[in-house]
Amino acid sequence: MSDETPKSRSHGRLTIQASLKPRDLMEERNVRGAWAARVITLFPEAFPGTLGLSLTGKALDLGLWRLDAIDLRQFGIGKHRNVDDTPAGGGAGMVLRADVVDAALRAAAGLPVVYLSPRGRRFDQAMARQWAAGPGITLLCGRFEGVDQRVLDHHNIAEVSLGDFVLTGGEIAAQAMLDATVRLLPGVLGNAESAVEESFSDGLLEHPQYTRPALWEGREIPAVLQSGNHAEIAKWRRAEAERITRERRPDLWDRLKRG
Ligand code: SAH
Repeated sequence: MSDETPKSRSHGRLTIQASLKPRDLMEERNVRGAWAARVITLFPEAFPGTLGLSLTGKALDLGLWRLDAIDLRQFGIGKHRNVDDTPAGGGAGMVLRADVVDAALRAAAGLPVVYLSPRGRRFDQAMARQWAAGPGITLLCGRFEGVDQRVLDHHNIAEVSLGDFVLTGGEIAAQAMLDATVRLLPGVLGNAESAVEESFSDGLLEHPQYTRPALWEGREIPAVLQSGNHAEIAKWRRAEAERITRERRPDLWDRLKRG
């Protein structure tokens, strides 16, 4: 790893012109107060990754949120900037050192911190909503066998999992969780309604979607969707959402019925 690795890589619109047009002042307030994501990682080059594309990428360019990838390597020990060592008690792999992770956490201070880990509480839409309502989040990405437990205990860090499987590192989990969170920030989705109607927002999975052509491979779009009767369309969509949720996710359906 070269010594030219930048301290942290910032994305989004960070430079403001010294002009006093009202539009510029508005933009400045926007950028300063923007929802902030910090990612502590050995692979800062993985960011923004898919978050730089499409709606999340456009929102990043507009300063609706900001992203700092903090290179864990720069807090490494000695000439070789070592970040890991062998597990106490023996066994395979390497563990990220407590002192190195601690130094990175201190540099990223100021936001709630989460360690991405298969042992954590499973990430879901409610958590995305909670994160989006706050000032931002710092995500600590592990690699190898994970992080020395003492630094997690010392900072009382919550662990969050992307799902019941093991990834090689936290970076993909970080991008998935940030994507789900950022699209809930005001102004990120084109149509303000689309976050309200989709899967999970009302505890149901979404109804099926169709678009042109009206007839494809002998399959027609359900007639009600072409009727122009908005009340009937809403009724049909609700019934389909309930059917799909009942069939595929009895756990969600039961929770909904129990209130
Ligand atoms: N030995 C660990 C797994 C290490 S995987 C264990 O068995 O629990 C290496 C890193 O990938 C972890 O430190 C974590 O940051 C990340 N990771 C792996 N699976 C993940 C998941 N399901 N959700 C979030 N992060 C995960």
